[in-house]
Amino acid sequence: MQTAIYWFRNDLRLVDNPALNDACRQAQRLALVYVVPAGERQVTRWGFERTGRHRRTFRDQALAGLSRALAAQDLELLIAAGDAVETLIVLAGEIGAADVFCEAIATPEELAECAALRAAGLRVHECWQSSLLDPTDLPFAITQMPRVFTAFRESVEGAGTAPRPPCALPARLPATAVASLTLRGDSEAAVALPAGASFPFTDPRFDGSEAAGRSHVEQYFHSAAARQYKQTRNGLSGVDYSTKFSPWLALGALSARTVYDALRAHESRLGANDSTYWIWFELLWRDFFRFSSLQHGARLFQAGGLSSLPPPDHDADAFRRWCAGETGHTLVDAGMRELASSGYLSNRLRQVVASYLIHELGCDWRAGAAWFESRLIDFDVYSNQGNWLYLAGRGADPRQGRRFNPDKQAATYDPDGQYRMLWGVCR
Ligand code: FAD
Repeated sequence: MQTAIYWFRNDLRLVDNPALNDACRQAQRLALVYVVPAGERQVTRWGFERTGRHRRTFRDQALAGLSRALAAQDLELLIAAGDAVETLIVLAGEIGAADVFCEAIATPEELAECAALRAAGLRVHECWQSSLLDPTDLPFAITQMPRVFTAFRESVEGAGTAPRPPCALPARLPATAVASLTLRGDSEAAVALPAGASFPFTDPRFDGSEAAGRSHVEQYFHSAAARQYKQTRNGLSGVDYSTKFSPWLALGALSARTVYDALRAHESRLGANDSTYWIWFELLWRDFFRFSSLQHGARLFQAGGLSSLPPPDHDADAFRRWCAGETGHTLVDAGMRELASSGYLSNRLRQVVASYLIHELGCDWRAGAAWFESRLIDFDVYSNQGNWLYLAGRGADPRQGRRFNPDKQAATYDPDGQYRMLWGVCR
């Protein structure tokens, strides 16, 4: 084929990007494009921007990194702003392309985008590539996937299902197709982060680029942190207590297979231990939520999720106080302040604050999920939706919701109040 479009979505990388490799193999000329969604700053039904400032900044860093990597090969990344479908249709008409290559994303809005492109007469070549394991390698059909994580994991481990090796950079990147697309103006000035941020993305070592992500993975697996992950992973604060891979994984600046490759190389050098196993275990959770989306589709986005429970209640005032870190519960408030001011929150506190919103404040889990979507620099639609549903008792967990006792959590994980002091909640 002569000219095609490569549409970057949540795959802002060159290494281990099978969809891009496929486009490079098939097209003589490629327009490489990313479309910043026009609606990303629109106010949602819950009363705040859909994509907050921290997320936008981190994403822009990833785009800048991708532009640099392409420019080093004399290629240009077109960064447009607007409606992705309209933009791609205009671009295709201008450069005479009938084919669009992209990563497959199995969630309703993203599926609708591809359907609209097809309805406009374009051939869309979607490639599933965001999970660690390939869905076709699983020991069960996706429709038969066990509903509970432990059964899923045991089945995968029992069958010895392993990730495929990452693929290298495309051997040949086709010349860029020239287009006069209206490009987005300058990106915004970066946000300032508080001193206690656990993911300090204003430091170039933690910026959103593929290069920073890859060097973080290398550094992590050459540090003592990887050998102690299982003991430290419930930490609340700092750079090292968990891997911090999620922000790059969420944007696709890193592939899960690249992480796994580095994990295996570490085990070959130093041996496997319970911590290295646990990193694999957590990456399986990530896959589980992705495959749940393939299995259940739009049901995961309904109020009841996979349950037959009625729509949840909601208390708009309690929700506003939760977002602002003003509930009166010190651990919850500290967590919510960290999230709002830094764009990141530990897994432990994500569980605590989400449980508090659902089970103590009686609010709609979808409002909490939307707040996380707006704030988290590692927002990932599958993991976010899956974890919220799980805690609300409307997802994969057979128990009726997971309720965390916030006082007990504070006594266990912040016994001396250091974390709460850091976020100005206790003296
Ligand atoms: P580590 O503890 O080092 O784990 C290694 C990797 O395993 C992570 O990078 C991640 O890819 C994966 N992982 C770990 N725990 C989970 C989990 N519970 N579910 C899915 N994958 C997991 N994670 C996101 O990436 N994006 C989200 O939008 C997101 N929303 C969440 C919402 C709620 C309510 C909860 C309870 C959890 C959410 N998580 C989400 C999962 C988890 O909190 C983060 O993946 C983790 O805190 C990221 O930090 P890390 O990379 O240092 O994780």
